[in-house]
Amino acid sequence: MNRCYTTCKRLVKTSDNFLTLVDFCNSVDQIKQAHAQLITRGLGSHSIPACKLIKLLTSSSSTTLPYAQLVFDQVPLPDLFLYNTMIKAYAMTTTSGNSLLIFRSMIRVLSHMPNQYTFVFVFKACCAGLGSPEGKQVQVLAIKLGLVRNLFVTNALIQMYANWGLVHDARRTFDQSVDRDSFSWNIMIGGYVRLGKMDLAMQLFNEMPQHDIVSWSTVIAGYVQVSCFMEALDLFKEMLHTGPPPNEFTLASALSACANLVALEQGRWIHVYIDKNDIKMNDRLLASLIDMYAKCGEIDFASEVFNSKSNLKRRISPWNALIGGFAMHGKSEEAINLFETMKTENIKPNKVTYIALLSACSHGKMIDQGRGYFKSMLSTYAIEPEIEHYGCMVDLFGRAGLLDEAEEIIAHMPMPPDFVIWGALLGACRIHKDVKRGERIGSFMKELNPNHIGCYILLANMYSASGRWSEARVVREKIETSERKKTPGCSSIELSGVFHQFLVGDRSHPQTKELYMFLEEMLHKLKIAGYVPEYQEVLLDIDDEEDKETALSKHSEKLALAYGLMNTEAGTPIRIVKNLRVCIDCHQAAKFISKVYHREIIVRDRIRFHHFKGGLCSCKDYW
Ligand code: ZN
Ligand code: ZN
Repeated sequence: MNRCYTTCKRLVKTSDNFLTLVDFCNSVDQIKQAHAQLITRGLGSHSIPACKLIKLLTSSSSTTLPYAQLVFDQVPLPDLFLYNTMIKAYAMTTTSGNSLLIFRSMIRVLSHMPNQYTFVFVFKACCAGLGSPEGKQVQVLAIKLGLVRNLFVTNALIQMYANWGLVHDARRTFDQSVDRDSFSWNIMIGGYVRLGKMDLAMQLFNEMPQHDIVSWSTVIAGYVQVSCFMEALDLFKEMLHTGPPPNEFTLASALSACANLVALEQGRWIHVYIDKNDIKMNDRLLASLIDMYAKCGEIDFASEVFNSKSNLKRRISPWNALIGGFAMHGKSEEAINLFETMKTENIKPNKVTYIALLSACSHGKMIDQGRGYFKSMLSTYAIEPEIEHYGCMVDLFGRAGLLDEAEEIIAHMPMPPDFVIWGALLGACRIHKDVKRGERIGSFMKELNPNHIGCYILLANMYSASGRWSEARVVREKIETSERKKTPGCSSIELSGVFHQFLVGDRSHPQTKELYMFLEEMLHKLKIAGYVPEYQEVLLDIDDEEDKETALSKHSEKLALAYGLMNTEAGTPIRIVKNLRVCIDCHQAAKFISKVYHREIIVRDRIRFHHFKGGLCSCKDYW
């Protein structure tokens, strides 16, 4: 082998000028010509030129990998460098298994052993597509060769375990490492974040000697992922004070937190920050901005932001964000028009687009369009409908009272219906007071998961909406005695950057006394204007009308609304976010408040927006 290497070196030297020319090849054809020249000059079977060619071939695309393999195969005695180049070329591709095959052939034939780079590439290949047994075998060899203490090898190992979700193994490697850099910390923190273990991620983040942009972005995104939006925003504010300047990824996560909290002021501040600091706008950041404005009730502004960035409209995510925004605001026609424009611009819709589009049809009672779009998914775009798309269709038919058709969709689903699908149908039975069908659906749901509280809540709601109090009481008793309690209704409102949360009948707020006095006065004013409480929303069997009214008056959205009215200037719009669906009575009350107090009220519930103005709601009472 040494003789071969010397010959190669000599040959390379004599052909130096030619090899330099290889560096200037910028197409596969040119590389092929260079390869032919190498072969005629007797250099085709030597490691150094082969290495140059393989690097060139695989630097930008993996489609040339088979050709690279051909070049590799022509070298009878590859050196360590050539082996490493080929292992690396496969490592990050869908054929990463080949890295391991080459690695194995290398340790069989090579007289000298793999080095730290070999292990880094093989571990990368393992985390890209191989199982843990292979990775652990390779690790044993690395230990034998004393290379696991190398910083790069350690980091690749931590990454491999973290990617597989084996955080204990990753942590053990991390704890045992003698040498750590910011990558090691960030990979380990990222491993916890991926599994939603935010307490462990934060513990490590706090221990980390110095945070860089990746560490900050990882934990902020992690909090958003587990729906701890306040924590995400608090951390983002801390980063602005003590950390490096945020980048487009950090800002996208912070915007997502604002969107979910309906924190419009803070979202706007981030938008200004992006413009002022010339942050590079990419399609993901643009989509986050559109989503933030849409979810904070500013759909027109979301539209404006979308239209101002025509250079980013070649990517699907900004379109999806705006179509989803229109759907949530009940602007079904706008959603459909945007979808049609998107098609004329040759942007191919994806699964997310169709979820937004079908839910727009559902909110707008556009049965025929919905049916047509659902069919076109597969026929025009070869997108196989998933359970979410079937859910949209059940919702579309269910809301419109086409309960037979909704059941038929479920019967023809290729996958077993889940709780959400049955829940959508049971919810529709409640709206259309089809108790018999509801009971049948309820029994399917109980069979699917006897301990799931959601089914009992839906059933109780259906019974009380139909005035069947005794049945409602039986189901409610079951809910009361069950281990898992119903998620309490919770509404929040942001005033000058501070969030105020209210649960049903909440008395924990420092302004409780004034709040309840205001609430009483408010309901009195609403009644004078013609508001009549909707008793069907009372879930308990209460005989006395006045008690029913008291139960309704303490709903979380009414508390948040009263609090907003009390603490804001006349004419200021009030924005409320609720974790569950808004109830019929609160919806009715909000319509009256918007008229009596001359306020715009924007309520975002779990599914959509209600924009109340002058006594009417944007949903036209269809939700
Ligand atoms: Zn209510
Ligand atoms: Zn509404």
